[in-house]
Amino acid sequence: MSTIDTVTMDKIVSLSRRRGFVFPSSEIYGGLGSSYDYGHYGVLLKNNVKAEWWRAMLQQRDDIVALDSAIIQHPKTWEASGHLASFTDPLVDCRTCKLRFRADHLDQGQCGRKPSRRPGETPECDLTEAREFNLMFETAIGPVREEGSTVYLRPETAQGIFLNFKNYLQFSRKKPPFGIAQIGKSFRNEITPGNFIFRTREFEQMEMEFFVPPDEAGRWFEHWLEARVDWYTHLGIRPDHLRLRAHPQDELSHYSSATSDVEYLFPIGWSELEGIANRGDYDLRAHAEHSRQKLEYVDTATGERYVPYVIEPAAGVDRAMLAFIVDAYDEDEIEGERRTVLRLHPRLAPVKVAVLPLVKKDGQPELASEIYRELRERVQADYDEGGAIGRRYRRQDEIGTPWAVTVDHQTLEDRTVTLRDRDSLVQERLSIDELGDEIERRLRLPWRSPKLD
Ligand code: ATP
Repeated sequence: MSTIDTVTMDKIVSLSRRRGFVFPSSEIYGGLGSSYDYGHYGVLLKNNVKAEWWRAMLQQRDDIVALDSAIIQHPKTWEASGHLASFTDPLVDCRTCKLRFRADHLDQGQCGRKPSRRPGETPECDLTEAREFNLMFETAIGPVREEGSTVYLRPETAQGIFLNFKNYLQFSRKKPPFGIAQIGKSFRNEITPGNFIFRTREFEQMEMEFFVPPDEAGRWFEHWLEARVDWYTHLGIRPDHLRLRAHPQDELSHYSSATSDVEYLFPIGWSELEGIANRGDYDLRAHAEHSRQKLEYVDTATGERYVPYVIEPAAGVDRAMLAFIVDAYDEDEIEGERRTVLRLHPRLAPVKVAVLPLVKKDGQPELASEIYRELRERVQADYDEGGAIGRRYRRQDEIGTPWAVTVDHQTLEDRTVTLRDRDSLVQERLSIDELGDEIERRLRLPWRSPKLD
């Protein structure tokens, strides 16, 4: 088996489109820059990424509870959080080509007249002074635009968690250390979105705020750094493509006393997948002040009261999905024929098993669809009877289906099928009755990327 280790973003974009993972949005109207729609297999993969995050946060622990808060919140939220004042990027305009660039990313921009040059590099470039541009999307509530009707689409899910802190102390009877986890859409009017689904204006976040006694914050920060790196590697990301990068003092956000990014080696270079921050008591204190509510923990036994510190792992669903696809992408050759294959962790794979009759006659399609109907009660399955068997395997390999069941003439005689493995290409013969259990057994096994071998 020959494998490649140079994956380009172009290959990922083209596979995503070809196999219905991700489409450019609004294409019939010429597209809307950096906006994407997720197709069938994209939805399934994204759902699996989110399910694995919930599993790690909720099912495998007993100190985290779930939340799904509103996208549009009271505008005071963003005053208190600091987003209205400082969630900005420095922006410059070019008076010649009329394009707009991030002042701190000019080295990544393209001149509107000469795309091979950077903005400001040609004598015709005429850049304005940098000015701050707020990234929040504004809209209005109610039919009349009047003072006080301005609201914002949330730029992060975290604030919804702080707004509900009091509810959770009351209803869940949790005491620090405990966490509240949420997955949902966030919106940022990014000046320079790009690199496919890496940076878009509308994206999904998986965020968890972990409330701890202040003197335990350092220890929990370390705990979450390790737990989050493990999450990616257990789901198959190659450890040598993952690293933690601590923010130097001058890069820290206004609320943070320590932040480390989990970075992945994307085709565009090392880039942030997730940020893990020690937010101290900044958010709860700010919301307490603006809402005039007490947002603190009171120990009823000892009377002790304090404002918890918060450790926040904040990840992007779309970015995680992109990293999983990039890490899984591979090309090899089988019997002289090139194949593209996504070596996804079986639990992330959109489809777990494909059922394929070898030929479209002799009762094979009937028996195969019977097997398919049974298997789909247990796992996400596909059925495909059209075209040469080799091409059907290739199609499943490209969407990362770990196993394929083939029904052949022998199946009609002894009710056995072959079970083909996407990575080793080994085909085992087993009885139809064992199939469901065997696939579920394999799904529970620890997994390691074959690209590491
Ligand atoms: P960046 O520096 O890349 O703009 P950030 O540090 O502003 O990201 P956070 O506010 O920490 O990002 O958000 C947490 C996570 O949300 C990021 O690690 C990323 O995975 C995801 N995310 C943030 N902005 C975007 C975006 N525009 N498109 C897709 N995902 C995003």
